Amino acid sequence: MQSPMSPVSVPSTQSKDLEDVKLPHEELRSDASTSEPDSEPTTVVPRSVNWHYTRKCNYSCKFCFHTAKSSFFLPETEEGMMESKECLRRLKMAGMEKLNFSGGEPFLHDKALGELCRFCKVELELPSVSIVSNGSLIKESWMKRFGSFVDILAISCDSFVEETNVRVGRGRGEHLRKLEEIKKWCVEYKVDFKINSVINALNVDEDMSEHIERLQPKRWKVFQCLLIEGENAGEEAIRDARSLTISDEQFQSFLERHKAVSVLVPESNDAMMNSYLILDEKLCFLNCTSGGKKPSASIRDVEVEVALRQAGFDAEMFVKRGGVYDWTKQRDIEDLGEDMMDVKTQTAGTLVKKMYKGPRGVLGDRESRDECSWMLAGAVACGALSLCLLAILRTR
Ligand code: SF4
Repeated sequence: MQSPMSPVSVPSTQSKDLEDVKLPHEELRSDASTSEPDSEPTTVVPRSVNWHYTRKCNYSCKFCFHTAKSSFFLPETEEGMMESKECLRRLKMAGMEKLNFSGGEPFLHDKALGELCRFCKVELELPSVSIVSNGSLIKESWMKRFGSFVDILAISCDSFVEETNVRVGRGRGEHLRKLEEIKKWCVEYKVDFKINSVINALNVDEDMSEHIERLQPKRWKVFQCLLIEGENAGEEAIRDARSLTISDEQFQSFLERHKAVSVLVPESNDAMMNSYLILDEKLCFLNCTSGGKKPSASIRDVEVEVALRQAGFDAEMFVKRGGVYDWTKQRDIEDLGEDMMDVKTQTAGTLVKKMYKGPRGVLGDRESRDECSWMLAGAVACGALSLCLLAILRTR
């Protein structure tokens, strides 16, 4: 297997990120490398999970490798939201530190997305919550209300020539304006901003350095256009990306042209293929080892550990490609407290408010306990008042 980074020096941020989190090899916490014949079954810790919670999207990128083959969205109903939270809680117990919401387009379900981000950050206390979006549906009001629960917002942008974005299928000509707008909101609402680009036959000769330097993302992830059987290649696929693929040499030449961009994090097909823990909309891990996407058993039905064994995850490549980095934004605790108050005030009586009751019933979480405390205090006060009135009436 060809090393994905070999012809181009790895950008400094990537190695620095790894140092920052002090990740010795053993901290992979995976015994995947064991060769003992009688050893325990392999245990992979799902430190970073990508939940493609919807397949639906308002864009139609030609190279899309997670296409709208289903409209299923588990958190759509209150029961589904509760079940989603319970599954996320079990992932946290299995070692999840970072959850990335992806799609499809996550902001097609903006209310549910906000609530799930709040749940992950406040109740699960995950070190990192991130979202990958095409950006088109993000509103400032969402950023204002939920931005404090998001560490990283990654926006996909493949070109700084709008016409190329349109040709790729990324929107109808508004993509770059929206990208600039979101960058400003990320600064204003203190969310780390990231850009993802898929390098393909239409943008491989572009020089994006100046634009990336100006926008200053925390990371610029650069992917090589990848063919996935059943998604963007093969008979059953909705998309056909064969005309957009590029050679490894072309990809390396793109990286060489941008090597001065310090935030660039490259990902060749080899690095990308099995180094992501991908959960689909039904909470099955997707195993890409055979070139397609084979779903594991769903964590709705089996233990996380059991499903993980079917995930085909390459934990070593995950670290090698820079999968672990400084993924928690600098957070002002007072800010978080204030934002919590804002959310409670703004969403009272709405779906979000109902969802606060959580999967464990009325007393199941902090919000519900707060509500019950107030009710109890009210009942005690009423009782005390009644006794006083009774005592006054008796003395008369
Ligand atoms: S924006 Fe993302 S999910 Fe939507 S079509 Fe493009 S690549 Fe696929």
